[in-house]
Amino acid sequence: MALSIFDIFKIGIGPSSSHTVGPMWAGHRFLNDLREKGILDSISSVRVGLYGSLALTGKGHSTDKAAILGLAGYRPDGVDPDIADQAFEDIVNTGVMKLAGERDIPFNYDHQMVFHFGEELEHPNGMRIYASDKNGIVVYYKTYLSVGGGFVVCADEFNSKDKQNGTDSPVDDVPSIPYSFKNAAELLQLCEQHKLTIAELVMANEKVLAGGDEEQVSANIDAIWDVMRNCIDRGLRMEGELPVSNMKRRASSMHQQLMANPEAMLKDHFSIMDWVTLFAMAVNEENACGGRVVTAPTNGAAGIIPAVLAYYTRFIDGADHKGVRDFIATSAAIGMLYKMNATISGAEAGCQAEVGSACSMAAGALAAVMGGNVHQVENAAEIGMEHNLGMTCDPIGGLVQVPCIERNGMAAIKAITATRMAMRGDGNHEVSLDSCIETMYRTGLDLQSKYRETSQGGLAVFAKPQCVA
Ligand code: SF4
Repeated sequence: MALSIFDIFKIGIGPSSSHTVGPMWAGHRFLNDLREKGILDSISSVRVGLYGSLALTGKGHSTDKAAILGLAGYRPDGVDPDIADQAFEDIVNTGVMKLAGERDIPFNYDHQMVFHFGEELEHPNGMRIYASDKNGIVVYYKTYLSVGGGFVVCADEFNSKDKQNGTDSPVDDVPSIPYSFKNAAELLQLCEQHKLTIAELVMANEKVLAGGDEEQVSANIDAIWDVMRNCIDRGLRMEGELPVSNMKRRASSMHQQLMANPEAMLKDHFSIMDWVTLFAMAVNEENACGGRVVTAPTNGAAGIIPAVLAYYTRFIDGADHKGVRDFIATSAAIGMLYKMNATISGAEAGCQAEVGSACSMAAGALAAVMGGNVHQVENAAEIGMEHNLGMTCDPIGGLVQVPCIERNGMAAIKAITATRMAMRGDGNHEVSLDSCIETMYRTGLDLQSKYRETSQGGLAVFAKPQCVA
């Protein structure tokens, strides 16, 4: 099936696309199944089992909260982040869940939310949901795999290699698109053959996917940018501590420092780097706090594309609304290449699959809106990934905080550098984006599981607190 811009960029809540957004969608899909089978009204209890990385880092990523709220009828794109915590605590404290938002059933967190440590299903991010009738007999259960970026597939879909289906969109209803591509080489060839930019090609596909409603597509893209912008703005304002770790939020004080000394912009040639870093950190602090974010392509890497896009709108002469839409469409096309040919899941291939993919997407998109030809765009995207290869996922405490927040700032800067390198050339280069994507995937498969979002290696194990005199 064809991937859409809105499969890559999904509005949801933090802190993790695979551990929060995906499990909430799984709950939603499970309810749909119960409805379709006509048994929703007869269900007296539900039970959730978390496996692999969802068990190991599920608490830190709020996987339990997400799965339960999903079964209670909340959706990632609709739930108000400000009430999600309270809604979850109410269910845990009262022992009562409103199944599908319709009918109260008992829910004992200690017995009905089970963390299967050390057990894994078909994918590192596995979960199983059971529904029982009034006699306690399991009448339906389903296995879901959260394959990154908020995409959730059933075990049978995963085994049939239909790894592209996300959320709850039915596979059979998707119309065929005019410009189908499987890899970067085909994408470039189509662009050249039809004299289209990548953004134009993707928008033509998207129009068909939206039933011909181009205005709706543009409105949906604008909505994505609105959420990203609001996320930056809120992250710049909010003070206090990050959840669980109680580490201080830093974006707000960094923002105040930069605002207090605007002349520095004129003297310090690198001060724009501070702003770009700040934009990314603001988003990722919001993500860590469970705020409203856009998967780009994941929550852990959610700050990079907004930061580079904010760099474009605020610091590049001639930046305009069309450029913003083109940026989002181009970056989505590059994200589709990773999704189709590799993975965007840190649990599958380490942080290179999340932050590396986002860096690549941002670099290519920036090259496009800076006037680069399709080969320069592909070159920028390739550089953006090449220098993230091998990057492990080792979040301290299973929280999407360290190294994630700073890492987004670093990757946003790296994306801009990648674009600038590509724009100095003519698009000819040694390593193709396709081979770089394949290298990322194969490298990810070679990584020991302790470096793939299990918090059992790297910084998660060896980092020691730094004493400040
Ligand atoms: S280290 Fe990277 S992949 Fe792992 S949780 Fe953080 S941002 Fe995501």
